[in-house]
Amino acid sequence: MADFFKTGGCHCGRVRYEILSAPLSVQHCHCSQCRKGFATLSAQGAVIGRQHIRITGEEFLTCYRTSASFEYRFCATCGSRIFAYEDSEPNLMYFMPATLDGGVHPGHPPDGESHIHVGSKAVWERLADDLPKFEAASPDEIVSDLMRQASEDG
Ligand SMILES: [Zn+2]
Ligand SMILES: [Zn+2]
Repeated sequence: MADFFKTGGCHCGRVRYEILSAPLSVQHCHCSQCRKGFATLSAQGAVIGRQHIRITGEEFLTCYRTSASFEYRFCATCGSRIFAYEDSEPNLMYFMPATLDGGVHPGHPPDGESHIHVGSKAVWERLADDLPKFEAASPDEIVSDLMRQASEDG
């Protein structure tokens, strides 16, 4: 993992980030909140240990809380919704892997990718791939494992 390095950023380039290890998982979320918030049928979020990402241009980010404990950060200039934080997960954060430069694969393990909240997807969205699909959130034990891994990492 020592030589793992990928870069990303918002559309206007004011907010940039570097990931120094592979994200633990990538979820394709189909919930109504992501539809409204991202203005797309589904949104991709990657989970990573906070110590494995370096962010520059944080002063250009604006925060938006979708619940008491969950906060999105987006570029105030171009609107790219690029990071998210859950208060109860102090070791982890989320970045939106579609914002990696050049559309590269985020590097997460093949079994760490699924569709979540499929039960509330838009009626006209078609899901044609063979990734695992969960009606609601991914099982809690996955998140617990990820949190433990991330805290052991660092
Ligand atoms: Zn921007
Ligand atoms: Zn969602």
